[in-house]
Amino acid sequence: MTKPSILTDTFGRTHNYLRISLTERCNLRCTYCMPADGIKLSPKKHIMTYEEIYTIAKEFVSIGVTKIRLTGGEPLVRKDAARIIEKLASLPVELTLTTNGVIVDKFIEHFKKCKIKTLNISLDSLDTAKNKEITRRSYFEKVYQNIILLVKEGFLVKVNCVLMKGFNDDEIIDFINISKELPIQVRFIEFMPFDGNQWNMDKLVPLQDILSEVHSNFKKEEIIKLEDAANDTTKSYQIKGYEGTFAIISSVTNPFCDGCNRIRLTANGQVKNCLFSSKESDLLTPLRSGKSITSIIQKTILSKSKIRNGMDTLDKFSQSDMHNNRSMITIGG
Ligand code: SAM
Ligand code: SF4
Repeated sequence: MTKPSILTDTFGRTHNYLRISLTERCNLRCTYCMPADGIKLSPKKHIMTYEEIYTIAKEFVSIGVTKIRLTGGEPLVRKDAARIIEKLASLPVELTLTTNGVIVDKFIEHFKKCKIKTLNISLDSLDTAKNKEITRRSYFEKVYQNIILLVKEGFLVKVNCVLMKGFNDDEIIDFINISKELPIQVRFIEFMPFDGNQWNMDKLVPLQDILSEVHSNFKKEEIIKLEDAANDTTKSYQIKGYEGTFAIISSVTNPFCDGCNRIRLTANGQVKNCLFSSKESDLLTPLRSGKSITSIIQKTILSKSKIRNGMDTLDKFSQSDMHNNRSMITIGG
């Protein structure tokens, strides 16, 4: 068990994993992530600069953060993304990224130089037309080729797929089958509600339905349950003889809050203690006026709820403030 620290909450969870959103901008427009008419971007002067990102990250590392994930929006569309990655790679942390994969090929040598080993790439359909429908852009072939390229270049690739009933739940087995030859991890994510993403419970494909689909297509003895680490958000499996694995992230029907070690920093410098909470604490303003941010971080950690910002049962989703929560594009997953 980790020694209690500034990053330990009232339930004994230590938050040593920081997710930093580099930008609110994106080169895709995924329907589940952002409203059809776009989002109101923060004024540029409210977005953390390269130096501010590094200063805040360094502060988190000094109090116990050991892993940093860069996300967005699309982190790689930020003009100084390469410079930020390089600077953060100088910290004693495991550094990684979540990206839509569209321009990831341009960063391969840079990732290697910065010792990045694992990348999460979002891909929600293996069908070109459906991909265009969900992302409102036409980059399916590019992203798929980039996944293959990353694997060839020796990266561990995790493919994130948000499942939506009647849209891509007929592709569960096709997705698992790409892990037959490719040593990737396919991760099925339950669709979550955020501002403007037209969420409702009927669109959700729950963990149990995903497993039923797997059991109807593979023999019991072919489905291997893999061990999950304490802070894993995933339940992992492998089909016997396949190179890769698959996993399920069931944030809605089967939350994993007990082992939560995540804290989030938005591109405009707000810290969030839970993905499901609309509450935020401003780090950027005090930082800019030369004040210490440590006590704000600690207060934020101490105010964290035990389960999903108090939504301990499914019916609380419809009554919650989730719909006032930022759009996912401005949180970063
Ligand atoms: N642009 C990058 C990407 O797409 O990977 C990083 C940012 S994106 C917001 C991070 C992750 O959040 C992606 O894997 C995406 O699929 C996931 N995501 C976005 N909206 C979601 C939702 N409503 N429910 C579940 N996951 C969601
Ligand atoms: Fe952009 Fe990622 Fe959101 Fe899609 S999921 S709109 S790629 S931030």
